[in-house]
Amino acid sequence: MNPEKIITGLTSAQADGLACVVCGRDYLRASGAVSLLVGRSLTGSQVFACEGRCGEVAGADLTKGRRVGGDRR
Ligand SMILES: [Zn+2]
Repeated sequence: MNPEKIITGLTSAQADGLACVVCGRDYLRASGAVSLLVGRSLTGSQVFACEGRCGEVAGADLTKGRRVGGDRR
């Protein structure tokens, strides 16, 4: 997979990396949720998908861009 892949058709939260690009889960509210870098939005922001099924669907690289939510207070 290509971490510089541009992903289109996202909501503003997804495009800012604040929500899963597959299921739409809100990472700002999902404390402890693990998300994986899957590419970039048209604005250049990194975008993420949940670890597990969403990451597989989105073609996430499991070795890079792993992030745990709920640690930004
Ligand atoms: Zn998800």
